[in-house]
Amino acid sequence: KSGGPRVVYWFRTDLRLHDSPALAHALSLNPSRLIPLWTWDPHYVYRQRGSANRWAFLVACMSDVSGSLAKLNPNQKLHVVRAAPTQVMGPLLRRWKIDVLVFERDTDAYARARDAEVTRIAEEAGVRVVSLSGRTLFDSDEIVKANGGRPTMSMSQIVKAAEKLGGGGGGGGEPARPVDAPKELPDPLDAADMDLGGIEKEMEGDVDEQKPSFAGAGQGDFNAVQRTSSPGKITQYSVGLMGPDGTFSVPTLEEMGIDPADVTTPHVGGETAGLAVLKKYIDDEEYVGTFEKPATAPTDFEPQATTLLSPHMHFGSVSVRKFWWDVQDVLARRKKEKKHNSSEPVNLPGQLLFRDMYFAAHAKVGVAFGQAVGNPVARFIPWHLQSKYSVNERGEYRSEGTYLVDDPQAEEYFRRWKEGRTGFPWIDALMRQLRREGWIHHLGRHAVACFLTRGGCYVSWERGAEVFEEWLIDHEVACNAGNWMWLSCTAFFSQFYRCYSPVAFPKKWDPEGHFVRRYVPELARFDKKYIYEPHKAPIADQKKWGCLVRGDGSKKDDKGEGGEGRMYPKPMFDFNERRQFCIDKVKEAYDVGLYGDDEKVRTGEWKKL
Ligand code: FAD
Repeated sequence: KSGGPRVVYWFRTDLRLHDSPALAHALSLNPSRLIPLWTWDPHYVYRQRGSANRWAFLVACMSDVSGSLAKLNPNQKLHVVRAAPTQVMGPLLRRWKIDVLVFERDTDAYARARDAEVTRIAEEAGVRVVSLSGRTLFDSDEIVKANGGRPTMSMSQIVKAAEKLGGGGGGGGEPARPVDAPKELPDPLDAADMDLGGIEKEMEGDVDEQKPSFAGAGQGDFNAVQRTSSPGKITQYSVGLMGPDGTFSVPTLEEMGIDPADVTTPHVGGETAGLAVLKKYIDDEEYVGTFEKPATAPTDFEPQATTLLSPHMHFGSVSVRKFWWDVQDVLARRKKEKKHNSSEPVNLPGQLLFRDMYFAAHAKVGVAFGQAVGNPVARFIPWHLQSKYSVNERGEYRSEGTYLVDDPQAEEYFRRWKEGRTGFPWIDALMRQLRREGWIHHLGRHAVACFLTRGGCYVSWERGAEVFEEWLIDHEVACNAGNWMWLSCTAFFSQFYRCYSPVAFPKKWDPEGHFVRRYVPELARFDKKYIYEPHKAPIADQKKWGCLVRGDGSKKDDKGEGGEGRMYPKPMFDFNERRQFCIDKVKEAYDVGLYGDDEKVRTGEWKKL
């Protein structure tokens, strides 16, 4: 190995050692030296909204990988360099005399632009660059090709496209089998050779501000000008390239300016934790064999009804192909034993195919996938609180903030939805769970997304996606934007006359209202008869149960009239009236039939229609 190449393995959303085709490739080069590297990307640090919960999950993933690397070779760890990859990669590769740079392929619009730039820089420095697919079941670009160069907009398209991929793609609609985790690792460079002293001088651009050099290339720019969401908490992230102790350490939350007390999620990051979750489900053959997504209760908690592996899918702490094959092996065994198995798309493999469908659609559409204007697959609906965009000279869309259309109430509806004080306990419970824990069940996401857009508030899906972007631990541009388009009937799904009732729907799952009682504790003592419509309870009962239903939720306690105690808001509108309003408006828009990339949309002429 002494004559082998010097290799940098660049970790990003692949924070695992098992089934990593790119990492396996890096090791197959028989490197004389290997530097597992993480660069702190300012796009995520400064630009994307992100809650403390997501940062905590990420740091746990990084620490876990670092520990696993050290177990294979005590000289190894994740080497964290706290600078923008586009700025620091060139100087690092030169200083460390690297021969090959390897990373997992990422088809997100932002990541593509970043990786193209880093590849250019590396190649200019004489470094060979290898990137391999591993984030999805199938290579998203190959899926698009197999789908006739079009974005995958339905389950049957992704299934057919996957069937066409042969050989390395697994063939016959099946992804490749997972690759083994490494059993040993070469050393990094000797400490003196790793030294970064004075490297700032070699970095291009303003190191302190760490501005990415390609504006407009991702959902992080979404509403950069006037955000309705609070900005991410990271404000004082400047502790030098190698951290306070000068050892390439994984940063602590405090070093990033995050108060650990703001971490309120019970969900734990890291490959070790993720694989344990996967194993728990795989060991439960009955669960895996009979899993049917529409039959899982959105009101279940501790444990929730679905696997909650999505944050691990996002950070790559569990391989999606391992998830797929572990499930398939259970299904095959059960089939042999003549036991009932549920089928696609409602079973677990079906869920993973949905994920691949959104990834491939996003891979094709690019940056416009995350927004209404300029998006060729999104029907244009003149929602209230629509984003306003302009197109720059490179054809990239930039937000210029939001403007109200017709309805001064829309901003208020949006704020109350976000803050969990709509007066609809089911919606409020979900939004509070989202904020506190960073995850809600798929049908819960359905409920709040439908309510905000076409089933109540008539607010743009972009506003909702932005809140999910901030609070979800599993936030994934492709899945988030794709599902918001689905729920708002702008793409993928078009039955806009079918809306979720915030009363009848949860009642079906949870007639006692356990879920609401947990996340809206002021209603905990209400009789189940009123748990989804507390404003209908007689005042005497409200008093008896310790909570008055009045106001708009901006005040928590009623000190005025006898100090009865807690308050919960009245419903912010008549749901049936608003549902009809939305259905009528969406129908009108469907009749006009514009899409986001239509000239009339881009020029604002749609307002006259
Ligand atoms: P399970 O039911 O256990 O499914 C297993 C895995 O399949 C998930 O971990 C996930 O990776 C994948 N999956 C399941 N359903 C979907 C789906 N509809 N779309 C894409 N992948 C799916 N998922 C995200 O990963 N990130 C997001 O930002 C995101 N935003 C969403 C926004 C809205 C409005 C809606 C309706 C859904 C969104 N989803 C998103 C999809 C889905 O709700 C979550 O993936 C799922 O609820 C995660 O829980 P789980 O891991 O228990 O899922």
